[in-house]
Amino acid sequence: MKLLYEGKAKRIYETENPNEVICEFKDALTAFNGEKADSEAGKGALNCAITTLIFEALEKEGIPTHLIKKIDETKQLVKKVKIIPIEVVVRNIAAGSLSKRLGLKEGEKLPFSIIEFYYKNDELNDPLINDDHAMILNLVEDRKELDILREYGRKVNNFLKEFFDKVGLILVDFKIEFGKDKEGNIILADEITPDSCRLWDKKTGKKMDKDLFRFDLGDIKEAYKEVLNRLKEVK
Ligand code: UDP
Repeated sequence: MKLLYEGKAKRIYETENPNEVICEFKDALTAFNGEKADSEAGKGALNCAITTLIFEALEKEGIPTHLIKKIDETKQLVKKVKIIPIEVVVRNIAAGSLSKRLGLKEGEKLPFSIIEFYYKNDELNDPLINDDHAMILNLVEDRKELDILREYGRKVNNFLKEFFDKVGLILVDFKIEFGKDKEGNIILADEITPDSCRLWDKKTGKKMDKDLFRFDLGDIKEAYKEVLNRLKEVK
């Protein structure tokens, strides 16, 4: 298989079909824009299973995604898309960079869910941007596309908040990415995993996401395994 792209947590391979690629989830873990790096055997397989389960559920909800099917422990067959270089972050509870930037206490419930855009650019450290910035950088074709990203962000949040709640997990915040398929439709791409979400246990408040790695708070594999096992129970 010809490697098309290798990122921090994934490898993308070509297939015989020009409209499909294979996405492999790596065991590598990085935080703070790659400054902190490590690896955890089995993490790739856990994330592949978790994101597959979530994307399948989102498809059923009518949210179009790049997922075609999971093909083995660490790999998915997905639609080839052109990634829109915007990270869409949705937040329900203050944490991470929001707490830091605005001085909100971690754990403070936001009066309503908020959506932020970040420019996907490692050299610039993925800066927070507004609609005008996205337009002058030509990250999208028009402002309507930004509205579509926000609308999908809200839909994904509304669905996932409840999905996680059913298994005793609080969805604090998450990051999603979108791409354009060959017809030019905007569809959900990348992943939704404990690497890209903050998830807290409803009863104990325990963190069950990448913050465990970011701040050396505990065993990430145990936590990710627990997230997967709980999601398998969602009815
Ligand atoms: N996030 C991500 N990739 C990034 C930046 C953020 O997956 O490059 C996720 C992060 O895991 C969290 C949410 O987006 O669930 C909000 O992250 P935040 O802006 O608080 O930044 P961080 O604390 O990760 O620096």
